[in-house]
Amino acid sequence: MSPRRNPPKRSKGNQPERELGQSFEAIEEHDEGIYRVRRITGSSSSKPYRCPGCDQLIPTATPHIVAWIHEDLETRRHWHTPCWERKDKRQPRVQRSRNAPRY
Ligand SMILES: [Zn+2]
Repeated sequence: MSPRRNPPKRSKGNQPERELGQSFEAIEEHDEGIYRVRRITGSSSSKPYRCPGCDQLIPTATPHIVAWIHEDLETRRHWHTPCWERKDKRQPRVQRSRNAPRY
């Protein structure tokens, strides 16, 4: 029996790739949690990514957004900038205070 060598899968402490050099990182709060948001200038992107917002590819050298839930790099996705901004506005469950009883 050989000892199992499963390297611990820890995203904690792992730095995102340094390749995305020219970028600006921000923290945004969304319904799903706290996002780290990077605005990629485009010049450092070397391959096309699929945007989860519209299911289209983001061509190389296009300024776009990389966002992931804080400390969960598995959620990291590349978004078109307008798709990311639209995501925030698209809130299916808007609370309508109009119909709420007011006392
Ligand atoms: Zn998109």
